[in-house]
Amino acid sequence: MPELFATFADIALPVPLPDPLIYQVPLAWRAQAVPGARARVDVGKRRLIGVIVKVHHDRPEGIALRPILEVLDREPVLTDDLLGLARFMADYYLAPMGEVVRAMLPASLPPWGDRKIWLTDAGALAPPRSDAEAAVIAVLREKGRTTVAALQSQVGLADLDAVLAGLAEGGRVGGEEHRARSARYVNAVELARGELADHLAAAGRSAEGRGVVEYLAAIGRPATVAEVGAAASASPAVVRRLVKLGVLRQFTQVERLALDRHMLGVPGETPEIVLRSDQSHALGQLVGVLDRQAFAPFLLRGMTGSGKTEVYLRAAEEARARGRSVILLVPEIALVPALARAVEQRFGDDLAILHSGLGTGERHQEWERVRRGEARVVLGPRSALFAPLADLGLIVVDEEQDTAYKQEVSPRYNGRDLALVRGRDAGAAIVLVSATPSLESRLNAERGKLELLTLTERAGQGRLPEGILVDLREEKEISRRPGDVHFSERLRFEIRQALADGDQVILLRNRRGYSPILLCRACGEDMRCPDCGLPRTYHRRAKRLICHYCGSMIRAPQVCPQCKEDALEAIGAGTERVEEDFKELFPGVAVDVLDRDTARRPGGLAALLERFDRGDVQVLIGTQMVSKGHHFPKVALTAVLAADAYLRFPDFRAVERTYNLLVQVAGRAGRGDRPGRFVIQTWHPEHYAIQAALRGDDEGFAREELHFRRVFHYPPYTRMVQLLVRDKSRDRAQELIAGLTAQLSGHPLSKGVRISGPAPAPLERLRGEWRFQLLARSADGRALHRLLEEVLPKNPSYDLVIDVDPQQLL
Ligand code: ADP
Ligand code: ZN
Repeated sequence: MPELFATFADIALPVPLPDPLIYQVPLAWRAQAVPGARARVDVGKRRLIGVIVKVHHDRPEGIALRPILEVLDREPVLTDDLLGLARFMADYYLAPMGEVVRAMLPASLPPWGDRKIWLTDAGALAPPRSDAEAAVIAVLREKGRTTVAALQSQVGLADLDAVLAGLAEGGRVGGEEHRARSARYVNAVELARGELADHLAAAGRSAEGRGVVEYLAAIGRPATVAEVGAAASASPAVVRRLVKLGVLRQFTQVERLALDRHMLGVPGETPEIVLRSDQSHALGQLVGVLDRQAFAPFLLRGMTGSGKTEVYLRAAEEARARGRSVILLVPEIALVPALARAVEQRFGDDLAILHSGLGTGERHQEWERVRRGEARVVLGPRSALFAPLADLGLIVVDEEQDTAYKQEVSPRYNGRDLALVRGRDAGAAIVLVSATPSLESRLNAERGKLELLTLTERAGQGRLPEGILVDLREEKEISRRPGDVHFSERLRFEIRQALADGDQVILLRNRRGYSPILLCRACGEDMRCPDCGLPRTYHRRAKRLICHYCGSMIRAPQVCPQCKEDALEAIGAGTERVEEDFKELFPGVAVDVLDRDTARRPGGLAALLERFDRGDVQVLIGTQMVSKGHHFPKVALTAVLAADAYLRFPDFRAVERTYNLLVQVAGRAGRGDRPGRFVIQTWHPEHYAIQAALRGDDEGFAREELHFRRVFHYPPYTRMVQLLVRDKSRDRAQELIAGLTAQLSGHPLSKGVRISGPAPAPLERLRGEWRFQLLARSADGRALHRLLEEVLPKNPSYDLVIDVDPQQLL
């Protein structure tokens, strides 16, 4: 083989090197070694899997190249447009290409070479049609079932794939499907025909049995045995007994893996909705772009319940009607079962859901459906943006202001911002959706970079809730310990009123657990996490002290472990304590708590939402999880128990986050046919974020906040990059960040770049490491990028976090 035709591949590998490494492509792998396919190679002493990003004929001078050991894919797993997006990400986020491509693929995608094949009876009888076929058949005869990779190493054919394809076509070899697992079946039950009273009588005196019957009667649909068990705390034996008694009918059904059991067999009742004129106008704009097949970015805004979802789902249908595919991004899919159900109803098998709660095999199976073009509507969290869809027509980013779009490990990308990049390259319509857009999007709309579509009315009769401000400073008999939560006179009055009217109530306390601190009044011991340096949160029911930063936990002590005094006191309040106080104030009222602790229990979230939806529970206490995406028409009162919790946080986005939370919680009140009420308890009633949320003055908030950002040179007026050094040694971390700071500020390219720091990070100690940071920002994003490219070490010998456009400065 003349040197001229030697082939080389640049391979992005999961190692913290900025650039791909170059390998030689052996003849046997030439056909399969294409950009976007995965390859196994040796790196140093390790054997790793990377993605081929480029194939070329330029032999680098004076380097001995190692060969590719194996190409894992028959077809590329990353298409050309996704490779382009990967290059953009690596450059913009200053992230290693290998980490970028790894983030774009589902975890542990099985290699094509792992596929098992075997000789069929037909194959064993028919004579081979070529030498190549003869070689393959000989190996299969000898080995029985074998993997493609093993076969390849035995026969060493360059065109093994073509040979196998020919054999498979004639039915002479069989192979397992290239997927993690085939369909699974689940056991489901439903109530047998007949009267509920008879069923209950048949269930007899067993509380569990009656619970199962009541649960199924209440939800009015079949449910999996697992769901029923969790919801009614009944064992499978109880369910089996009811089946035997004829109370329940049992059946199996194919589990669509990605679907929440919440959605099992949901009856298809969609009320016919006639769009209002503002909705029709917005939809018309979107459809116009779909027809032009051009890139066009939009900001769709309107308060909660104004019908934004209805608009973008119809736009998605219009895109599909034009043969184009759709990506629907949500911050956290587990929190929006109602949306998942609506999307499932509209798109059926055309839909793939990339649920963040899915196991790797399940995720991979959905991903394969997308790659094969079987599903062309994808719903999922930020990583769903990388779905291998062809002919993309529309990307929707719901709740675009949500920080969950930002990935907090490398590559630290923002799914919302990348949606615009992918959309631009694909010539698609992009819709950012929000009731309270991020400041970035507001400014982009002002500057004409996003076309604004505004929904002005609330659907149905729902009117804006009435805002009520409680100035905690004027409350009598109130303790002023930081973080304590109070039920003010006014709030108690409003709750009594709502309960008396048979309405539902949502109370927000953005902190889980019983109390943020368990303090010894005698010696001041506050049970800090030794690794993170902050007090552990007291979880009374679980009898644990848990560090909310690293998750480490210890048993809650009875007496102070330091001074042995019986003087421990819970300071401040989390959801668990709010629930306790509430039960004391309103005995007998059914209440549930929604936070990460309760949602994590199996069936927890779905069952809890269903109880509240049915009205079995009148009051829901929760963290910001209560503010997300749910639609509860019977909620007449919502309250934020301590609006200041975030305001003083050392993060320039703290005010924006507080405002968003307040508005979202307000939006939960009065979504049905009656206006609701909305209580804010605060120590800072004059603060503009609180005032704006109270009066529904969104423009006013944006004006004040943009002014603050401009004056202090914060994003969106600047691009910001956080550099953070983590180290076991405090001195070393400090030295390293000081060195970086000096290098940056002294560099000739640093003109117009502001450097703040070095300083301890807000969480100076986390998981046993010391953390020091600096913030670099500039109105000229490109200039900042150039400076960082010049100065930052290409292959740092220490732990350096580079966060471009940081969302949380922790
Ligand atoms: P948003 O996404 O802005 O919070 P949704 O699209 O979820 O609002 O709409 C809120 C509720 O109003 C949903 O139950 C939806 O079905 C209903 N809805 C939306 N548009 C209309 C309309 N034009 N007429 C009647 N009901 C509507
Ligand atoms: Zn910790």
